[in-house]
Amino acid sequence: MTVTAEAPLDLDPELLISGAQLIGGDWVPASSGETIEVINPANGNVIANIPRSDATDVDQAVQAAEKALPAWRDLSATLRADLIFKWADLVEQKVQELDQLESQEVGRPARGMVPMANQLRFIAGQADKVQGVSLPTHSPDTIGFTLREPFGVVGAIIPWNAPGPMFAVEVGAAIAAGNTIIIKPAEDAPLAALALAKLGVQAGIPAGVINVVTGYGVEAGAPIPAHPKVTRMGFVGSPQTGRAIMESCAKNLTPLHLELGGKSPQVVFDDADLERAIPGMAFAITINTGQVCAAGSRVVVHRSIHHEVVERLAAELQKTTIGPWYENVSMGPVVNQKQHERVLGYMDIGRQEGADLIIGGGQPSGAKYENGFFVEPTIFDKVDPDSRLAQEEIFGPVLSVIPVEDDDEALQVANNTDYGLVSSVWTSNTGRAVKFARGLQAGQVGVNSPIGAGVIGGPFGGYKNSGFGRTMGADSVLEWTQVKTVSIR
Ligand code: NAD
Repeated sequence: MTVTAEAPLDLDPELLISGAQLIGGDWVPASSGETIEVINPANGNVIANIPRSDATDVDQAVQAAEKALPAWRDLSATLRADLIFKWADLVEQKVQELDQLESQEVGRPARGMVPMANQLRFIAGQADKVQGVSLPTHSPDTIGFTLREPFGVVGAIIPWNAPGPMFAVEVGAAIAAGNTIIIKPAEDAPLAALALAKLGVQAGIPAGVINVVTGYGVEAGAPIPAHPKVTRMGFVGSPQTGRAIMESCAKNLTPLHLELGGKSPQVVFDDADLERAIPGMAFAITINTGQVCAAGSRVVVHRSIHHEVVERLAAELQKTTIGPWYENVSMGPVVNQKQHERVLGYMDIGRQEGADLIIGGGQPSGAKYENGFFVEPTIFDKVDPDSRLAQEEIFGPVLSVIPVEDDDEALQVANNTDYGLVSSVWTSNTGRAVKFARGLQAGQVGVNSPIGAGVIGGPFGGYKNSGFGRTMGADSVLEWTQVKTVSIR
């Protein structure tokens, strides 16, 4: 396998999988023979080709998963855990290579990815702790208890912005519970996911337990929830696609969890430690070039410190270095042309809506940016809280600043979107911290911490249109089980 010249990858060539997907333990092309190019967003070069699959391939994957199910479901939970622990060890050994691979396809700087080995270990530790309860009975000749059982053949669809960690979380939890899975990574960034699947196979996870089908959403994604033998779905992506998946699941009455978008507020008060809050807020909007569901895209700031916060945020974002993933930069390009047009389009919307453009607002200039999908970190000030800029998920490094008069207005503005994924409040006042921790309508609240960072095993998921169901927490494996009540007389 050749690795393109712009990517000085220190990569085991085995990990760059091109032209093949994993079905029933075999690396196979799409049944149509067609492929899709995976592009390096920093320069438009083709990194690899992936199978362009459709319903035929999904059906083959479902059959493979069905075949693998009885043995996997009935395997001792401890042995299932052992295999996932082994998988985690291999991931740890290859973590730098996986990091580079994901950096190249997503465009983010190679700075160390979410520790996927730890995610897998956290999940593996739950595999043999899936427990039911004993139940009281009406008479002494009866015993009653609950069993937690896997659903069977399950499906998942994930986006491109953090494909490795999302693959680990969805697949890890589903198979730890004894399910077998068909997963479709995003067409823009499938390589880290395929490499992870390969390591899973190397760890000894049996053929057909993990099946990866690649391709476009409508062609290779939609057939997964539509398949009558897929009994549970996990979806991470946009609210628009989430609705389509849910409609499809409704036809088969298939349960699911949805992890969707966000428009996360960063509420900052005059009692905040700005030495921490300013870099924290800048990080929350520039990490992964703002392409994070948890991006802190709205700064809701008390009027008394409004000008100071805007000035200092602008100075902080001016320090952002932009470039391809392998340079020592703080921000890469956005993932593809569509995303590029979308982010630049929102910058125009901000201008049209009359918000004050403080910094950024376009593409960086210079020869090295010409062929890549680069955008500038951008701040709009005095943004109308009801405007499109303040309401819609941009998925780029565009910050909307909204000044407010008091705590009540801050809470009202912070909660005034359809989303409810993550929120932060920056304050040294414990009373405010408590009020906002309770009052913010979001699945995660960080006090003096951006994007909900800093805890181990925090359940992750949304309120409102940010979705439902929780991954990553201590119950993440249970989410992939169903409960059976048994009475024996
Ligand atoms: P997307 O919804 O366009 O695509 C996500 C996945 O769904 C991709 O694999 C895509 O191929 C597939 N897909 C697209 N249309 C489909 C269809 N009709 N049927 C089946 N599958 C289909 O989202 P995206 O642009 O790739 O990702 C960005 C979105 O994901 C943002 O809204 C972001 O907030 C969200 N996201 C959420 C989380 C979270 O945990 N809440 C994490 C990361 C990203």
